[in-house]
Amino acid sequence: MSLAHGRPYLAIPGPSVMPDAVLRAMHRAAPNIYEGALVDMVRGIIPDLRHVARTDGHACIYIANGHGAWEAALSNVVAEGDKVLVAATGRFGHGWADMATGLGAEVELIDFGRKSPINAEQVFEALRADPGHAIRAVLMSHVDTASAVRNDVAAVRRALDDAGHPALLMVDCIASLACDEFRMDDWGADIMVAGSQKGLMVPPGLSFVFFNDHAAARRETMKRVSRYWDWKPRADPEFFYQYFGGTAPAHHLYGLRAALDMIREEGLEAIWSRHATLARAIWAAVEVWGADGPMSLNIADAANRSHAVTAVRIGAPYGARLREWTDTKAGVTLGLGIGMSEPDDPNGTGFFRIGHMGHVNAHMVLGALGVIEAGLQALGVPHGRGGLSAAAGVIAAA
Ligand SMILES: *Cc1c(COP(=O)(O)O)cnc(C)c1O
Repeated sequence: MSLAHGRPYLAIPGPSVMPDAVLRAMHRAAPNIYEGALVDMVRGIIPDLRHVARTDGHACIYIANGHGAWEAALSNVVAEGDKVLVAATGRFGHGWADMATGLGAEVELIDFGRKSPINAEQVFEALRADPGHAIRAVLMSHVDTASAVRNDVAAVRRALDDAGHPALLMVDCIASLACDEFRMDDWGADIMVAGSQKGLMVPPGLSFVFFNDHAAARRETMKRVSRYWDWKPRADPEFFYQYFGGTAPAHHLYGLRAALDMIREEGLEAIWSRHATLARAIWAAVEVWGADGPMSLNIADAANRSHAVTAVRIGAPYGARLREWTDTKAGVTLGLGIGMSEPDDPNGTGFFRIGHMGHVNAHMVLGALGVIEAGLQALGVPHGRGGLSAAAGVIAAA
């Protein structure tokens, strides 16, 4: 029997749950894109985006998904033949590296695997081994959404400073922005990329590149920058259309305005701590389930886990079966285990991920965990008893 009829819950790590306020803001006739309310609204969006990124630097908007932001950021500071150092901690690190390769960059990859954060000491050694400063940029993910690892951005900054290396530090916060604590200026990121459809609670289609003066100066040394990706007119437009390199994505912007209002109202610190507590509830449940059976959290040390997404190892083929069960029987869609294939499980069916980013609260997380527990019972997956009440305990104590 299916009990899925009712409001569905897309508990995947992006696109995330869109608030009704965002959807309502988008549901309107096409506005005047030459002057008036839309133009005024965009001027106010930029400082609010910078506030969320904790930066006094520059911000620009692209009509693109996260992959577009990857390419946009690289296009402004990395030329064909330039070298970049990529510290990869999961599928998304490799994805950004591949984007750099596609632009003709030479990629030096340090692969930290799928269960460990970046070891800044290894980044330091790689930079020290480059006395001629051929490396133009260091690329890292704050949170890698595949492994659910959270990396220490400030530690990588220190590695650059200790090595006296001028490479730019480029950080992917597509999964983490407005979920996990992130402070662009304090932590010393030169460039940061983000997307609309995760912590920012807006449909996919907008992405953002933030950059400081150091990165802006590097942009000026480029022989050429593709017109469309060029961040300069977008960050400092003479004409309104230059914010977007063409027609304004009007409806997304109304949605973004509503989301930024919600973020301001709750407060970024409160948002970070809500995500931290909900993440701990999820971890508590999985730890109890895993005490007797095949389940475990992919990232062993809680200090290195994202507060926006959790990757769970459950063993093939249980991951795929559980996802199917929760989706068809209970209206909860869980994330695939992407980039988590193993020799005996080439499709990564032994993993699943829970997205808990953005517009997510206690009842949604407890609901998803209750559905997962029901699925474990229905499918006969061995598991420890009491996971759901362990999660409830975390919520009760918060
Ligand atoms: C989602 C995500 C991306 C890719 O974003 P798309 O919008 O799917 O192109 C890149 N990096 C991270 C860390 C992500 O979470």
